[in-house]
Amino acid sequence: MGDIVKKIIYVDMDHVLCDYEEAWARQQALFPNLEFPQSQPGMYIGMSPLPGALEGYRWLNDHPATEVYILTAPSIHNSHCYSEKRDWVEKHLGLSAVKNLIITPHKNLNKGHYLIDDMASGKGQDAFEGSLILFGSDRFPDWSSVRAFFEKALISEIGATEDFALDQEDRDWLRMKPVGREILD
Ligand SMILES: [Mg+2]
Repeated sequence: MGDIVKKIIYVDMDHVLCDYEEAWARQQALFPNLEFPQSQPGMYIGMSPLPGALEGYRWLNDHPATEVYILTAPSIHNSHCYSEKRDWVEKHLGLSAVKNLIITPHKNLNKGHYLIDDMASGKGQDAFEGSLILFGSDRFPDWSSVRAFFEKALISEIGATEDFALDQEDRDWLRMKPVGREILD
């Protein structure tokens, strides 16, 4: 195997891993007089995972060609949102995923190749240096479509660095060979 250049992939929480809509409706029923029912503790930790989200996350995370992080913007007025997001990740994905949890209102400041997010802008998504996978769009309506995309994208990634029965000299040659090498020689 050649060295695999791992793809850094960020996964959003609300509307991507977590069912925000369902939790918000439940919270609204509990606090019908509040304009912002998410201001009360219990909503962020109480979200259900969206269908296929945990399986999709684990598959991406376990893939040898990826480094996966959770990248979520906080509701800055609600301090419990920060701790409940952290606790949600531990509850559903384990402590190892908490190590890769990034809570920031500025998603564009994180370096990487892909961002799976349901919003194209608002928290820096439009300035992210990599490719946006717009969750909920026609192309990526759900987790199975996201997984199908990465199954292809990551296989070609491995293929680009895979070597077949080459010795070290061959590999070195292929790496250093510039365009027009034949003319220079
Ligand atoms: Mg979101």
